[in-house]
Amino acid sequence: LESWQVVERAKEAFLGGRTRPLEFRLQQLKALQRMITDRQTEISTALKQDLNRVSGLISLENEIALAIEKLAEWAAPRPVEKNLLTLTDEVYIQPEPLGVVLIIGAWNYPWALTLSPLVGAIAAGNAAVVKPSELSEYSALLLRALLPRYLDKDLYPVITGGVSETQELLKQRFDHVFYTGSSAVGKLVMQAAAQHLTPVTLELGGKSPCYIDKNCDLRVACRRVTWGKFVNCGQTCIAPDYILCEPCIQGREFYGADPKCSPDYGRIINQRHFSRIMGLMEGYTAVLGGQSDASQRYIAPTVLKDVPPQSRLMQEEIFGPLLPIVTVSDMDDAIRFINEREKPLALYIFCSDKKAVKRMIDETTSGGVTVNDVMMHCALSSLPFGGVGQSGMGRYHGRHTFDQLSHQRACLLRSLGMESVNLARYPPQDRHRKLN
Ligand code: NAD
Repeated sequence: LESWQVVERAKEAFLGGRTRPLEFRLQQLKALQRMITDRQTEISTALKQDLNRVSGLISLENEIALAIEKLAEWAAPRPVEKNLLTLTDEVYIQPEPLGVVLIIGAWNYPWALTLSPLVGAIAAGNAAVVKPSELSEYSALLLRALLPRYLDKDLYPVITGGVSETQELLKQRFDHVFYTGSSAVGKLVMQAAAQHLTPVTLELGGKSPCYIDKNCDLRVACRRVTWGKFVNCGQTCIAPDYILCEPCIQGREFYGADPKCSPDYGRIINQRHFSRIMGLMEGYTAVLGGQSDASQRYIAPTVLKDVPPQSRLMQEEIFGPLLPIVTVSDMDDAIRFINEREKPLALYIFCSDKKAVKRMIDETTSGGVTVNDVMMHCALSSLPFGGVGQSGMGRYHGRHTFDQLSHQRACLLRSLGMESVNLARYPPQDRHRKLN
């Protein structure tokens, strides 16, 4: 089928109304839950082939379980405050489905980045076309094979392919586009959506700073930072991109003396990204790591010291296992440094002085912030996850996904009685003036 036919079919299925009853949505969510459980081994194998990663899908499983548990509450009408003129009316906000959502995922977490938004799309009563990244090919093909065996085929189709397929898809009219990927492509997505006045959620990237104050337990800080940086080989949108501090990193203990042999250490997604990351390292001497093996797309966890702020390494998102350290004189200097750059997706602050931490939060901005650890704000689904400025727009996780993919309909229900109250608003206006 051509992509327009797939979209057309999803639209027809949506208009047919079967996503409206909550029982239907629950049944689909439970089927998705079953798919993850039944197919754990196949999914793990695909992830291993794509990213040499052994990983569960715990956050995704939690998202599904939460949606199943809370759906009735999320979908219920939400009463709002009234004023004098509406005292006897029924007023509430009714979340309602938008229609057909397009979900475009990135390769670094191929399952979570497509299926977490899908959970919210299903819960909110939408149809959704899912487009996984072509770079994580094994996962994309498996997703395409599995989803129709568990979910409604017309409502939740998977389309695979690369740039041209995505561009073709983006010409179609959707009711919402939910995109995860780079800021550069985010702009193209928004441009395409604008042709139809389609709203977008853009989950983008950027350089997430990590400030380490001298007033903190450096050993703990270094462990936490290096874990966050090197998990999935640095290919995590909210990984700490660089460190602002005095040099103090030692991060080998997790992967043993030779991370290359560690079953816990991943590989770079493809040759292009491998060369890109190697290029970023050029001209620097690593204080730690630096080894690589092109045949395996292996790059060791690498720390680079005294990196000048104007260097290329500090201009683009690294998205690989390189951790540059930029020195600043104090917290104020760090705040200035952060505020001079694009608004990041995440900010990390390591510091034992609570007052100083609060000040740093107040004087900066970012999509989210975790203090004295990394990435944890993303793991709690009651917190909205998303960017600000160049790091994106919109938010999701848990109820936030449901809200993001619903229309908040304003409802005011009045009776035909009490007409005398309305007399003042009808013309002719001079009659009232005379009466007054
Ligand atoms: P990618 O290359 O897989 O692209 C993402 C999607 O966009 C894919 O489905 C791809 O097919 C499509 N695409 C690529 N080029 C296109 C084009 N020219 N026109 C239309 N569609 C196109 O992934 P990526 O962009 O390399 O992803 C990495 C980026 O994603 C990083 O910047 C990272 O920070 C960001 N990211 C953000 C989040 C988040 O939640 N905010 C999560 C993961 C990754």
